[in-house]
This record gives sequence, C-alpha cells and structure tokens, in this order.
Amino acid sequence: MPFPEAIERRLNKKICMRCYARNAVSATRCRKCGYTGLRLKAKERKSGQ
Ligand SMILES: [Zn+2]
Repeated sequence: MPFPEAIERRLNKKICMRCYARNAVSATRCRKCGYTGLRLKAKERKSGQ
C-alpha cells in the first residue's frame, strides 16, 4: 500500500482508515471524509512489522 511513512512520525494523531488523513486525537471522525474509523497513530513498533 503506497503511502508515505516518512510523514507519519508524529504522535498523538489519528489516522483515518479510509482516506488516511491525519486528525487530532480528540477527533471522533475524519475531518476530510467524515469516516469514524480512526485509529491512533501511536508508537506501534512491533517486531515483524
Ligand atoms: Zn477520512
């Protein structure tokens, strides 16, 4: 899936699982597409990824 990981280094953000827009952690839905499927962009460094 070709999306830039270099700009994903900021913490405390939520990523829309539909359009991959970055939203504030306080957001409950995507500010771009309105999708509610947001996931926290925290440190998820797991071996094997
Ligand atoms: Zn979105």
